[in-house]
Amino acid sequence: MNNNTEEKIKKLITEMTIEEKVSMCHGNGLFETAAVDRLNIPRLIMSDGPMGVRKDYYNDRWQEIDNNDDFVTYFPCYTALAATWNESLSSEFGDALGQEARGRGKDIILAPGINIVRTPLGGRNYEYMSEDPYLISKLVVPFIKGVQKNDVAACIKHFAVNNQEYNRLFINVEVDDRALNEIYFPGFKAAVMEGGTYALMGAYNKLRGTHCSHNDFLINKVLRKDWGFDGIVISDWGAVHDTFEAANNGLDIEMDVKNNFNEYFMASPLIEKLKSGEIKEEVINAKVARILKLMFKIKMLHSKRAKGSYNTEEHRNISLKVAEESIVLLKNEGSRLPLKDNKIKSIAVIGENGRKLHSGGGDSAQIKALYEISPLMGIKMRVGGNTKITYSKGYSDNDENREALIMEAAENAKNAEVSIIIGGLTHADDTEGHDRKNMKLPYGQDELIKRVLEVNKDTIVVILSGSPVEMGSWIKKAPAVLQTWYAGMEGGHAMAEVLFGDINPSGKLPVTFPKKLEDSPAHSIGEFPGKLEIKYKEGIFVGYRYFDTKNIEPLFCFGHGLSYTTFKYSNLKVATKKSGNNIKIKVSFSVKNNGAIMGAEVAQLYISDLDSSIPRPLKELKAFKKINLKAGEEKEIEFELDKTALSFFSDIENSWIYESGKFEVLVGSSSRDIRLNEIFKVKVENVSSF
Ligand code: BGC
Repeated sequence: MNNNTEEKIKKLITEMTIEEKVSMCHGNGLFETAAVDRLNIPRLIMSDGPMGVRKDYYNDRWQEIDNNDDFVTYFPCYTALAATWNESLSSEFGDALGQEARGRGKDIILAPGINIVRTPLGGRNYEYMSEDPYLISKLVVPFIKGVQKNDVAACIKHFAVNNQEYNRLFINVEVDDRALNEIYFPGFKAAVMEGGTYALMGAYNKLRGTHCSHNDFLINKVLRKDWGFDGIVISDWGAVHDTFEAANNGLDIEMDVKNNFNEYFMASPLIEKLKSGEIKEEVINAKVARILKLMFKIKMLHSKRAKGSYNTEEHRNISLKVAEESIVLLKNEGSRLPLKDNKIKSIAVIGENGRKLHSGGGDSAQIKALYEISPLMGIKMRVGGNTKITYSKGYSDNDENREALIMEAAENAKNAEVSIIIGGLTHADDTEGHDRKNMKLPYGQDELIKRVLEVNKDTIVVILSGSPVEMGSWIKKAPAVLQTWYAGMEGGHAMAEVLFGDINPSGKLPVTFPKKLEDSPAHSIGEFPGKLEIKYKEGIFVGYRYFDTKNIEPLFCFGHGLSYTTFKYSNLKVATKKSGNNIKIKVSFSVKNNGAIMGAEVAQLYISDLDSSIPRPLKELKAFKKINLKAGEEKEIEFELDKTALSFFSDIENSWIYESGKFEVLVGSSSRDIRLNEIFKVKVENVSSF
């Protein structure tokens, strides 16, 4: 921001009345603020959301306008993006989303969502990325930069600890400082300090007794003071409960789902408090300054603003690429996959998710997709007319006769060379507003899968969901299992390409798949879902940090994902060098594609603190890289780490600490498939904190 702009902002503020200033700080429509026409200050137009730009609504009521000009590119959900482990793809996704938002005339896109996946039951897990803060941080930074290249603001959400839907408007989260700093904050911190997000959304829930959207500790202390955030804080829709707190504790814009705009906490009640002197005018001036600054950053007041575009072929290709790279091959006994389409004469496709379209569900993340290729259509488009395909529902979310559906599916499976079950969840389960009740596959799918496997051993199971489901009752018998997600408009194509080997799968799980819910830390030692309050008793032991440390075997571990080829890791070298109060750790190793086809591998580096003075997770992800390798090709990978990779957050010192002692570098293909390791020593004069 140059001096000239600062001056302009100051001048505008001196010219504004209190009413005009306040009008910029609350919704004057369900997705917009008011303009100050007298001074040529435009309104700010916002829109959901993560998987594409949401359809248009009337300003004053939750009713869609239905103009038919708001069909858009439907991108995969963020768990899918995280499963790609691909930073440059995240940048392309962000860029495309930013273009679509601008193309639709939006100023702020209410995305990405980066809350930690704390429990497999979280209704909005699919809108979020991972259980691991490092993976989130690495993906969110390029995403935000991609969005904001297009003169549109990203709005990362929901700050903070919004990890469940149950009682989300009022639940009070109690969590220790260490878990906040090591688990729940890093994604947001990276989004602010490295990604430079222009906006951030305050969560509905409370943290330590105060609603997050007007929480002094979260907004004034952590966000603005510690991280130097100079963007705007927008409340979640209806997350404000108090004028004084909201005004003084750093919130800039109050949004809500109600249409009595002048009665919002940050509307008339704020004008009154400003006029009576109860709230100082400098408080509102600071908010207006930040909002104006954002308007300058996204060139709202500039003639050369990017104009964006939507529904382009390029965006559809990006949607497809993310979908392709997000599919995780969980199991592939005897190289059952890929299928050889030219040899197969008949395929039985089974399961309601085979033909279900998901774009319109999930609540605020819903998309009015230009089109959506279902898995069944993807398969049919892929194999053409010479292969006989029978489709049977197999199960139904309507109360249909389960036994009859299973019998029909089993009959089709018996008569086909190959059967493919496409099951999992829908946005009836993975949705805003409520969490799942358990981790089981709904609508009798376990029974269906077992019965189909009995009659056709060559059955491939595809699970489409935003969160893990239990697979214990059939996983041993299923030769090949794929995990896919709400994968965008091209999801069906991507799935078919993987099934038939046009694409070699390279997705890796961004969350642990537990065998059963009770194994999951939020449920075994923590609390979930609480009533009015919830204690995150598991602290930092979230996801694989818990499973590995407590030696609980998951169904599929964090970072897991097979390929149609195999990779060999070798030649690990670790070199450390002191550098002032810091340390440089150079790690290099080689990865070779040992198979006959090209593939991509995500090499993962974990650190284990062997001599820590306090309990730490057995291992923590500290670096990763996705590389493409031709058959027989070998590449060297190099990482450079520093003290941040060795440190933990000390509640006592209230800072990050790194200590002398032995550490182990673990390099592998997943968190549990460690191929190379080496121990190194660090000597720190006194314990070093930062
Ligand atoms: C959601 C937000 C969303 C907002 C606006 C809220 O219910 O929590 O993520 O951006 O609605 O639709």
